[in-house]
Amino acid sequence: MLITHDTECALSILVDLLNTAPEVCGDERLPDIAALDAFVRRQEISEIDSLTEDDLRQVQELRTRLRDVFGTESTEEAADLVNAIVAAAGTTPRLVNHDHHDWHIHYFAPHAALGPHLAAELGMALTFILMAGERERLRRCGAPDCARVFVDLSRNRSRRYCDSRTCGNRLHVAAYRARQRSAEAVASA
Ligand SMILES: [Zn+2]
Ligand SMILES: [Zn+2]
Repeated sequence: MLITHDTECALSILVDLLNTAPEVCGDERLPDIAALDAFVRRQEISEIDSLTEDDLRQVQELRTRLRDVFGTESTEEAADLVNAIVAAAGTTPRLVNHDHHDWHIHYFAPHAALGPHLAAELGMALTFILMAGERERLRRCGAPDCARVFVDLSRNRSRRYCDSRTCGNRLHVAAYRARQRSAEAVASA
């Protein structure tokens, strides 16, 4: 798969962002500027000045639009959504090196607000996934009661659950208990 390290990093920010949504968690994980600021620091998002209520609203709106890409049925459909997100962001690719990072491209305009910044970076990461013919790696968790998304970067595209330690594991336990119950039913019959 032709996905660069930078794209992988952007995809992990994308997944983190999408999984903060109220439809995923039951409650809003980005309810205020303090939570948004914690997200920016956790993901080491560069060139972000102080955050405002506008930023919060823009990021929440963007999150919904990005999530829609994970529910698409074709690359055409996904491309339309991603193109619109990137176009609205107004990208200005720049070659930069900063902090401990080697040379890489920033797609966001210098000191863009967080919404357009994320729209440019995460939109371009999705562009690269689609260009590589890998839309199907953008997945929603296979556990019936889980609304989290993930990007399956496994070699054989076999990942079905958002996090094998929680959803995958929980389903294994449920399947094991079901087998046990039917074995007991057979034994007592
Ligand atoms: Zn950078
Ligand atoms: Zn899950």
